Amino acid sequence: MTVRARFAPSPTGMLHIGGARTALFNLLFARHHGGTFLLRIEDTDRERSTPEATQVILEGLDWLGIRPDEPPVFQSTRAARHAEVAYAMLAAGRAYRCWCTPDELRRMREEAIAEGRPPRYNGYWRDRDPAEAPAGVAPAIRLKAPREGETVVDDLVQGTVRVANTELDDMIILRSDGTPTYLHAVVVDDHDMGITHVIRGDDHLTNTFRQVQVYQAMGWHIPRFGHLPLIHGADGAKLSKRHGAVSVLEFREQGFLPEAICNYLLRLGWGHGDVEVLDRAEAIRLFDTDGIGRAPSRMDYAKLTHLNGIYMRQADDARLVAETMQRLARDPALVADATTEARLAALMPGLKERARTLVELADSAAFLARCLPLPMAPKAEALLTPEARAMLAELAGVLDATDFTAPGLDAALRAFAEAKGLKLGQVAQPLRAALTGSNTSPGIDATLAALGRGEALARVRAAAQT
Ligand code: GLU
Repeated sequence: MTVRARFAPSPTGMLHIGGARTALFNLLFARHHGGTFLLRIEDTDRERSTPEATQVILEGLDWLGIRPDEPPVFQSTRAARHAEVAYAMLAAGRAYRCWCTPDELRRMREEAIAEGRPPRYNGYWRDRDPAEAPAGVAPAIRLKAPREGETVVDDLVQGTVRVANTELDDMIILRSDGTPTYLHAVVVDDHDMGITHVIRGDDHLTNTFRQVQVYQAMGWHIPRFGHLPLIHGADGAKLSKRHGAVSVLEFREQGFLPEAICNYLLRLGWGHGDVEVLDRAEAIRLFDTDGIGRAPSRMDYAKLTHLNGIYMRQADDARLVAETMQRLARDPALVADATTEARLAALMPGLKERARTLVELADSAAFLARCLPLPMAPKAEALLTPEARAMLAELAGVLDATDFTAPGLDAALRAFAEAKGLKLGQVAQPLRAALTGSNTSPGIDATLAALGRGEALARVRAAAQT
């Protein structure tokens, strides 16, 4: 059997980090088994689904490198097929027409509640002669669900789960206006797309029993199901905005790299020994459903940030320069031109060592894009004592006499410090303040060289004067 897995988001909002993990697990599962990964946009709820939300989902998945092997299927385009299957079930005696009005259904529910029974449809039209149908009422079509026995799902994650069929009523598959219900549409689509494995959030587990009954009514092959425990916040509550970022594009905005997010999501709810850092190829090689845990996972933002730092250090300099330039360009106080880009490229090996996110990287690189006068952080200001300023005035001439390469500058700084009887830090820290307006930066020699002779000396002299 060739595996065909899918991600089936409803475009009613953002792409939640939990949805992204479901998509990733399906992709990895399909790839691991040499199968196909598909995408279906479940836009049947016309009122809640928006084209913008679809775009956001597609953009988020693309950013994460989660791309389907075939063009996405839009569920809304398949309504005629959903109806066709409902009529086929009707013809086969596995479904029936129900003429109950909304009022009658409401009364049915109220009576059941009053009698202490669960508020289910009581099968009123199940065996009734359609000749009794009231005039002028459009019927819905309901599944003729089995009344005895149980429906069993052998779940890849949750193990065997079962429900007594007396617990499930005859659900509507086609509404009286001819539109399909969601649970019916999902089954028809999964069947027609040849889906062999349905891996999704465990909030869908209870739906699965009803969906299995639709497969059975049609005599269709039933896919394997795997229901993933949800992602919770650190406090154990379902992950929501108040815990921090939840939408994939929000994580992008906050400066996380897509491969770090994927690695983090993979380790969130799936394990393979102690391995923490796995790239996509390694993830495909190792991923299978037996590594998925049954307990809800807890989102740990600190851990994600740490992992992102690891990926930042491994990332290609040119890519980080491009990402940082984009962020610098958004700040009107900065000049993101070719000069800045050249400085950034020169200093990137040092900058990326200390930044855990692209936001931190852009913050630490902003000084490269500034014009004099530099804004001074209080900690930098404190370093620029009158003695330090006098020292900088003298140092400017010394630096100007070098070749302005990092080794040349380093040698000159050491010789200067020694001659003055100062520790290197006593020279480097005020110099750093003068060059960057802060008290942190990569190595002072590399920082000087990246700024270049003209700009670096202008900054040193400006600090010496004020
Ligand atoms: N459209 C559903 C959702 O967004 C997923 C349904 C499924 O995977 O079967 O939660």
